[in-house]
Amino acid sequence: MQLIYDLTFSELTNLLREWNEPAYRAKQIWQGLYQHLYNSPEQFTNLSKPLRKKMTEHLTFIPFSVKVYQDSSDRHTRKTLFELPDTNLIEAVLMKYEREDGDDRVMRNAEFVTNDPAIRNTHHASRIKHRRTLCISTQAGCAMGCVFCATGQMGFKRHLSSGEIVAQVMYYAQMLKKQDETVSNIVFMGMGEPFHNYENTMAAIDRLNDSAGYNFGARRFTISTVGLAPQIRRFADEQRQVNLAVSLHAVDDDARAAMMPVNKRYKIDEVLEACEYYVAKTSRRVTFEWALINGVNDTPEVAKKLASKLRGLMCHVNAIPLNPTAGFDGEATDRQRAALFKESLEQAGIPCTIRMRRGIDINAGCGQLAGAVVSS
Ligand code: SAH
Ligand code: SF4
Repeated sequence: MQLIYDLTFSELTNLLREWNEPAYRAKQIWQGLYQHLYNSPEQFTNLSKPLRKKMTEHLTFIPFSVKVYQDSSDRHTRKTLFELPDTNLIEAVLMKYEREDGDDRVMRNAEFVTNDPAIRNTHHASRIKHRRTLCISTQAGCAMGCVFCATGQMGFKRHLSSGEIVAQVMYYAQMLKKQDETVSNIVFMGMGEPFHNYENTMAAIDRLNDSAGYNFGARRFTISTVGLAPQIRRFADEQRQVNLAVSLHAVDDDARAAMMPVNKRYKIDEVLEACEYYVAKTSRRVTFEWALINGVNDTPEVAKKLASKLRGLMCHVNAIPLNPTAGFDGEATDRQRAALFKESLEQAGIPCTIRMRRGIDINAGCGQLAGAVVSS
């Protein structure tokens, strides 16, 4: 048995050739999978019965079972825990944001367009009523061992295949389709380090980006990395339109290494040089992620030091108060201190956003994914 989402279009074409099917069948299956969002052979009513039977015998459409899903109390966040056949657990989180621009004309247009079945499956931001951001996993567990992160605390289990990454998106896309909605952004911020599973992550992006298939715009993906400098350079060389976020969290090597063991291998300056290379190669801005830990990395002094390190680099800082995890006793910075941090950075010329914490009550926030169920 093979997972159908693991196949590239040319692999699918070859498989159908082996099955003595005409070439256009591959196109029909690709469209069924990625445009109509079918998730079982029976739905492909445009194919012959023998072909559907063959698909059932040789191909899997769903690589995991849903162990549980949980909605946050504000109902804006849904976390799904998937169990893979080898019993490993992974998680994917959907976050719903309502539009804030209040532009009635845009809203009406968006509603009109998304209700048109002919183009319901296209993915253009202007056509989407609300933001639906999907946070997906690239590995079961993580080898990087960041002390503040629940995934890091559980250790590395294994890499996900490209199809297992794609299937998380398809699961939510199929669910949203029933409500006439679509995924609008995909962030690689679930379990795992995407650049440690580089090939499969990029293959998943390519599959989802394919204009003859799911057609998800490259600019609406964001990869978040712990800061693997060689992969940042490789990513820059590939000149993709995908957004890049780098988790920094500290401005001194000793402080960063204490929180993020990877810093012993790639020091801050090496990571920043790779980021400079990325900006030079792509003309795209880098986002730095910063988990605000009370009294540790949230003072105006740290902000000033950070600003002087980042000066001249086309970037933006995304700061988020630390989410609680069982294995780390640091505390989240409060609103006032977070605002002060932002102000200090911005006064020194570095744009900063304080992100809202989402889904904390169901452990669906950044760094809280550990394959565990929160009882409520
Ligand atoms: N491995 C990648 C992506 C997954 S983690 C990376 O580290 O970037 C996604 C983001 O959550 C990262 O910025 C990470 O530093 C952050 N994070 C991890 N644990 C956190 C916590 N307890 N509170 C807030 N953010 C956290
Ligand atoms: Fe892995 Fe990212 Fe968690 Fe670090 S923060 S342990 S790199 S998932």
